[in-house]
Amino acid sequence: MTIWSVIGAGVAGLAVASEMVSRGAKVQVYDPGGPPGAHGCSWWAGGMLAPWCEYENAEEPVLRLGKTALDWWAARTQVQRRGTLVVANPRDLPDLRRFARRTQAFADVDQTQIQELEPDLHGFSKALFFPDEAHLDPRQALQDLYRQLQGQGVEFHRKLAPPRLENAIDCRGLHAREVLHDLRGVKGEMLVIRCPDIHLTRPVRLLHPRMPLYIVPRGDGVYMLGATMIESEDSSRITARSMLELLSAAYALNPAFGEAEVLEIGVDLRPAFPDNLPRIRRLGHTIYANGLYRHGYLLAPALVRGVADLALENKHSEMVDEDRA
Ligand SMILES: Cc1cc2nc3c(=O)[nH]c(=O)nc-3n(C[C@H](O)[C@H](O)[C@H](O)COP(=O)(O)OP(=O)(O)OC[C@H]3O[C@@H](n4cnc5c(N)ncnc54)[C@H](O)[C@@H]3O)c2cc1C
Repeated sequence: MTIWSVIGAGVAGLAVASEMVSRGAKVQVYDPGGPPGAHGCSWWAGGMLAPWCEYENAEEPVLRLGKTALDWWAARTQVQRRGTLVVANPRDLPDLRRFARRTQAFADVDQTQIQELEPDLHGFSKALFFPDEAHLDPRQALQDLYRQLQGQGVEFHRKLAPPRLENAIDCRGLHAREVLHDLRGVKGEMLVIRCPDIHLTRPVRLLHPRMPLYIVPRGDGVYMLGATMIESEDSSRITARSMLELLSAAYALNPAFGEAEVLEIGVDLRPAFPDNLPRIRRLGHTIYANGLYRHGYLLAPALVRGVADLALENKHSEMVDEDRA
């Protein structure tokens, strides 16, 4: 029986392994970083499964393929189906209207409804509510996939993949740039804060002239605050400006966030192709699955279905880059 070697155990690699195993394939995984952790970009994600909100500034496949992510993840980890709330400061209400024009599947909500949905949000008179969106905890999701795969007999090798592997699926994220020359890194910065006095139950996006900022509840008063989007490949540290903008967004949602503890600062580079859509490429004996950009969890299920179709049935999904295959 063919053994497929998955190279890289971020969200792409673990999801590929999971999909391949579910179709009866035999798989092994290489990652020198070992189990999921801070070495992978996937560790720092917000985990929003928000295809309608993302459609505001993304291509059509993000909406269509992203909608299929919820059920794929729900079969493997805990998914919170509580929707997304999009708010704007009073001076930015035209931005809320513009956001509404560019997307779909939302309800306009007023101050009373906002209070019913999230009693701890203060000072917002209008919002958009996307009831069908969901979120997950990325670290939990990665650990769940890792444990399930171990339970299914998948061998994990804590080392670099040996050269010239046959039947390899390369999911190294930005590390594959030596082969995928059109891959670039898009810097993202995030914070994890703890504020037990505030109880938010769903992701809240605050519209902002420079970038959409959001807060995702992780439970027990812990929140992920993200994320900047900067065309820079310097992932060495967060800038003062980004830190100010992230914390100001939290403060705008509720001034009690001023008392929050900052637990973590995360900085990493999202792997992206020029059109910010993921791609599958077959070069020699290796299939490359990459370019998840800001949609690691949202588009991984569609990406890995395409990988398994190509690897196991030689079927070309729309993500297969025909020019290079
Ligand atoms: C701040 C921030 C917020 C984000 N928020 C979201 C969000 O809310 N929703 C969402 O869907 N996405 C989000 N993303 C995007 C998402 O995190 C990325 O798209 C995703 O992590 C890319 O996953 P990957 O598996 O391709 O890469 P990675 O997670 O980087 O995994 C690559 C793995 O390959 C391994 N590797 C490297 N070289 C080798 C080698 N030679 N041999 C074997 N293994 C190797 C590495 O150790 C690593 O574990 C966010 C990203 C950031 C930075």
